[in-house]
Amino acid sequence: MPNPQAQNQFPFSNDVEPLDDHDHDHDHAPVNDDEAYWTQRTAVIQKLLEAKGYFTAAEVRQEIERQDSVTPMLGARLVARAWVDPPFKARLLADGKAACHEMDIDTVEINRLEVVENTPSVHHVVVCTLCSCYPRAILGYHPPSWYKSTAYRQRVVIDPRGVLEEEFGTLLADDIEVRVMDSTADTRYLVIPVRPDGTDGWAEEALIPLVTRDSMIGVALAQTP
Ligand code: FE
Repeated sequence: MPNPQAQNQFPFSNDVEPLDDHDHDHDHAPVNDDEAYWTQRTAVIQKLLEAKGYFTAAEVRQEIERQDSVTPMLGARLVARAWVDPPFKARLLADGKAACHEMDIDTVEINRLEVVENTPSVHHVVVCTLCSCYPRAILGYHPPSWYKSTAYRQRVVIDPRGVLEEEFGTLLADDIEVRVMDSTADTRYLVIPVRPDGTDGWAEEALIPLVTRDSMIGVALAQTP
């Protein structure tokens, strides 16, 4: 298995050429994956807005603390509940936001939460081809860097099996259908991974640690005990 920390940084070994061979007449903004650039730019804009009185540094810190308190644990709780409680799973698949509400998970920032279930015959993997739409309210406010990278966004739609295998070490049998779900500002996705073998009879609480962030994006499987 690849080192998950390394995956957080940037798993892609080969850069992908930008897709600019399509035929229309606007200019594309240059793509910039440089985190240092964006960090510096964000800091400068924040200072300007503080100086103009839009918010204070303390308010920014409080908001960062609030966002940092949202972790993939919320999504893992949903998945573990779905694994042990079939009626809950049916409700989660039918209306993701309503099911989150049942578990006191605040999804007010998500317009529509579409929950998809991986099975022994179908595997879903999520991307945002346009930018980096992500179900932040249930997977955390800091999507992994690779999720936002142009390399992942461009390559996973062309060769999802190759990305899963080469970049994440996730091998899928040939007879499993792979579906790539494209997130938008309107619709965010959560994947219910296949419940691992060897967990029959396990309590919900014991299942939660097996549900990783990456398994809920669909680039990995749930951990096996
Ligand atoms: Fe997006």
